[in-house]
Amino acid sequence: MNKFRALLVSKFEAGQKIEFTHLTEDDLMPGDVTVNIEHSSVNYKDGLAITGKAPIIRNYPLIPGIDFAGTVKSSAHKNWKVGDKVVLGGWGVGESHHGGFAQVARVNGDWLVPLPAAFTTADAMAIGVAGYTAMLCVMALEEQGIKPEQGEILVTGAAGGVGTVSIAVLSKLGFTVVASTGRMEEEAFLKSLGAASVVNRSEFNGPAKALGKTRWAGAIDSVGSTTLANVISQIIPEGAVAACGLAQGMDFPGNMAPFILRGVRLIGVNSVTTPMQRRLAAWARLERDLDLKKLHALTTHVKLDDVPRVAAEIVEGKIRGRVVVDLT
Ligand code: NDP
Repeated sequence: MNKFRALLVSKFEAGQKIEFTHLTEDDLMPGDVTVNIEHSSVNYKDGLAITGKAPIIRNYPLIPGIDFAGTVKSSAHKNWKVGDKVVLGGWGVGESHHGGFAQVARVNGDWLVPLPAAFTTADAMAIGVAGYTAMLCVMALEEQGIKPEQGEILVTGAAGGVGTVSIAVLSKLGFTVVASTGRMEEEAFLKSLGAASVVNRSEFNGPAKALGKTRWAGAIDSVGSTTLANVISQIIPEGAVAACGLAQGMDFPGNMAPFILRGVRLIGVNSVTTPMQRRLAAWARLERDLDLKKLHALTTHVKLDDVPRVAAEIVEGKIRGRVVVDLT
């Protein structure tokens, strides 16, 4: 049987071992669709999984990688046939089921979405879980009735994956976007993606006031912790925050005042088990509302061998935009 390359994480008493290896399809987990992976991407969760900084991997040894795009190699699933182009993100892939840092994957066909016509498999992974989550956050703000004329939208973790795609989409939709970053040297880059202005993330670092001066009609937050608490205290009455991440921390040292005195709404966004209809809606919106030139500008391309290095860098907050892994 043909061998393919994979990154494999094993568990030992002393910690995790990461190796590049050659596997066959017999080594893969059960599923009804086998995919020749063309591209994957490095998400923050992959960084946590590979460095072992959080207990993301629940089934050792495991091929990490929470997303991939490629071509169906074989299928026993009614929706998919050989040659179909497909995209996968979430569903426990790269956590409990072998994931995208390999040249072949076998998965449940119910987890796959068709590659949108506007995108190559590399584009789909430039978006990846982070970019698709950014779109879910934009949709969440829209569903709360947030409109461009109501004021500025703050994007935290602005130079990261969720942040950069959020800026590109929101600006195309006519929102005035303010980017919050710890990397002020990226100001010109963030403005090129559509940010109207850039603020230093240290503004959101002290203890949050019960009610701060109102500044934002809405926000997309991928940082959590003190940052999220400060941002919520500065949202205008009836404004909303879509919160999806914990790059600063899992805690939420905020208080009730903005919710009960200003009617501020905090919307949690989870991309892992999003129902299929909403996934398809998000991908259709990305086709319509994400400028491909901006997507390419925020993307770096690497090889499988680079993944452990990039994984370490992403948890240190050193990665700009999105990183696509070429597996062809
Ligand atoms: P990135 O690492 O690409 O971006 C995170 C950004 O957060 C960094 O670039 C940095 O931005 C900022 N940041 C990092 N550390 C800190 C800190 N200590 N304090 C304040 N800001 C910090 O990750 P992603 O954009 O891919 O993901 C962001 C978060 O969203 C992660 O926690 C991830 O797990 C989560 N996520 C959740 C999903 C869900 O389904 N809920 C799906 C996808 C992602 P800057 O340098 O500009 O300040």
